[in-house]
Amino acid sequence: MKISRKFDVFTLVSTAVFICALVISYRTITTISSETLMLFDVSREFDYLTRVKQTLTDLQHSAEHFIHMGGSDAYSDAMMKNLAEYEQVLRLSSTMRLDPEELALIDFATKNLPGCSAVIQELINSEGRLSQENKDSFERLRTGYIEKILSHADKHWQVDLEKVGRLSGKVIEAKSRSLLILLILLSAMLLLIVAARLAVSRFIIRPIRTIEDISNAIAGGDTGRRIDIHSDDELGSLSSSINTMAAAIQDKLQMLENAVSNEQALVREQTILNELMGFIASGADLELVLRIFLGRTKDLMRAEQSAIFIMEPREPLDPELKIFFNTYEDETSMEYGRAMLRGVFINVVRTSTPLRVNEPLTEAPGSHVQVRNLLAVPLSSIDRGVLGLIVIVNKDGGFSQHDEDMLFNFSFQAFQAITMQQEIVRYATTDGLTGLHNHRVFREKLHEEIERSRRYARDVSLLMIDIDHFKLFNDTYGHQAGDEVLRTVADLIRRNIRTTDFGARYGGEEFSVILPETSGSQALTVAERLCANIMGYDLVLASGDRPTITVSIGCATFPWNAETDELLIKKSDENLYAAKRGGRNRVVGSDRGSRDSSEASGASSA
Ligand code: GH3
Ligand code: MG
Ligand code: MG
Repeated sequence: MKISRKFDVFTLVSTAVFICALVISYRTITTISSETLMLFDVSREFDYLTRVKQTLTDLQHSAEHFIHMGGSDAYSDAMMKNLAEYEQVLRLSSTMRLDPEELALIDFATKNLPGCSAVIQELINSEGRLSQENKDSFERLRTGYIEKILSHADKHWQVDLEKVGRLSGKVIEAKSRSLLILLILLSAMLLLIVAARLAVSRFIIRPIRTIEDISNAIAGGDTGRRIDIHSDDELGSLSSSINTMAAAIQDKLQMLENAVSNEQALVREQTILNELMGFIASGADLELVLRIFLGRTKDLMRAEQSAIFIMEPREPLDPELKIFFNTYEDETSMEYGRAMLRGVFINVVRTSTPLRVNEPLTEAPGSHVQVRNLLAVPLSSIDRGVLGLIVIVNKDGGFSQHDEDMLFNFSFQAFQAITMQQEIVRYATTDGLTGLHNHRVFREKLHEEIERSRRYARDVSLLMIDIDHFKLFNDTYGHQAGDEVLRTVADLIRRNIRTTDFGARYGGEEFSVILPETSGSQALTVAERLCANIMGYDLVLASGDRPTITVSIGCATFPWNAETDELLIKKSDENLYAAKRGGRNRVVGSDRGSRDSSEASGASSA
């Protein structure tokens, strides 16, 4: 019920009680006053009759004393006084509200008053000479008038007395009854006021305090608080409005917090990406770049561990692992990496779709890590497709779709930059025709190796290789065939050296090979083998011709044949020239090509 309605009901009830009190009081007062009036009238009648009786009795007594004393003067005055009083009382009858019987009695007394006065007057006039006639007259007056009036007055007096008693009882009864009713009504009103006060406190003041407290809490930021008032009055609807408002504020705040945290995440992602980009652009080698990329990605995703798998390009159906490392092992097992790549992650590289697992995994990307959850996304480049995948492991609360999108975007951008940088580096350091390192990188590498060998007192040998009569070959078979020869010789060089050796196209149809930690005699062996293999290579041209290709090789070794990189090139070149002069298709080394041999290696011919 609405509070206003409750107030209406309260007002109605209290008004009704008040009106009842008024009506009852009015009725009681009128009853009491009319009965008091009647009592007053009856009392006056009673009093009047008492006076009539008294004055007449006094008159009778003074007359009887007068007669008895033989007409004494003393009693004549009393008689006169009593008669006058009696006459006066009778005259007052007109002011009285007497009932008809009493009126008839007073009428009788008044009518016969002259006769009574005459008898009394005669008694007074007798002045001590009372006659028998006087006595008889008085005797007649006494029996015919005085006693008759007295006996009637007595009777009426008795009736009036009873009336007075009855009326007094009624008045007293009405008074106590009205007092009781008033007391009850006053108590009812008091109860009503107390009940109203309690109801106001219980149903209005207390809920308002609750609403005030919770509103203050909500305004203070505790937007999860709700008012637990469900009454169907104004306070109930006010509470539900405030609850709705608090829920709306909570929603808006949540949205705002989400927006801010998204913004922060984006800024963080961008900052990490920028830093990584700077590192990628600095030209560090691929493995270091990939390690930094892996670490930053793990930080970005707030995960415990991460791993990266890079495979040979264009083999997503049967991936061949090339690079594999993670953040929790110093030495990674390539075998283990291969098993993972072909096992749990095979679909990531085959279909280029992310893998998100939010439950413990037994087949984990590393033997020492207990995987609680995992997120893997493919790493691809725009022109070469899927090249590998990155795996993020163990994040508190698991990985969401948002995490997946973030990792996908971040790793795509970063990996794109890494592959582009690698491509640029490759362009800048590789010879386009043969795929070997170019001249510039060769010079840098040679300088580096000479310095290293100088520091550690090691040998480093250099081979200078020149194709024999290549001008003639070009002239005979054409430049395209010449290019084919250049590629073939480059390929044969690659196959005949170690991975630690460094093959380059020195320029034109000349190649160079740096052989770190290699003595002069060891270098000669390599050169001889290479020379023989090139000559023995069965080259089939598009025209069907099968020409034999030969090369001449000059060798020199640091520190025995030259003290600097420049001089080492010069020395090798001189030996190459010597090989040419010696008839081509041969190897020429220097005098002291080895620490352990002081003899000249001399020239050897194929
Ligand atoms: P020699 O045995 O004395 O080395 O004789 P040669 O003919 O090989 O020596 P020369 O230096 O006179 O000729 C080198 C030739 O190599 C000239 C040039 O046409 C050819 N050549 C250089 N670079 C390329 C190339 O990129 N492609 C092709 N097809 N030929 C090249
Ligand atoms: Mg040449
Ligand atoms: Mg040549």
